[in-house]
Amino acid sequence: MARKNTILIVDDEPDIVNLTEKFLKLGDFDTITSSNAKEAMKIVEESYDKIALILLDIMMPGVSGTTVLQNVKNDERYKQIKVVLFTVKSFNEDIQKGKRLGADGYITKPFSGKDLLKYIQKMLEEN
Ligand SMILES: [Mg+2]
Repeated sequence: MARKNTILIVDDEPDIVNLTEKFLKLGDFDTITSSNAKEAMKIVEESYDKIALILLDIMMPGVSGTTVLQNVKNDERYKQIKVVLFTVKSFNEDIQKGKRLGADGYITKPFSGKDLLKYIQKMLEEN
């Protein structure tokens, strides 16, 4: 069986999605992108056997990233999927809440694509 190599990127800011996708591709990851929580949950349901990690924005219009995090962490089928939150540095409350809900890591905006790729590679090597 092929190794799980797909990263799901969820963010309502297209610039963030594009930058992230570009660097993950340089690292030989496959990517799926989504701009909202509802669609992201649908993708997880359909493709969870391929998804190694979700990069998840918290602040999105409509349903927030927190709900996605909660759904993923409360479903047995998704227990292999790591969730890394995109957070804005000053929003310490988000980080605390994310921790409680079982987030595996954080990337604070703004970030460099290079550092992001390194962070993701390291996190997936730990398995
Ligand atoms: Mg956002």
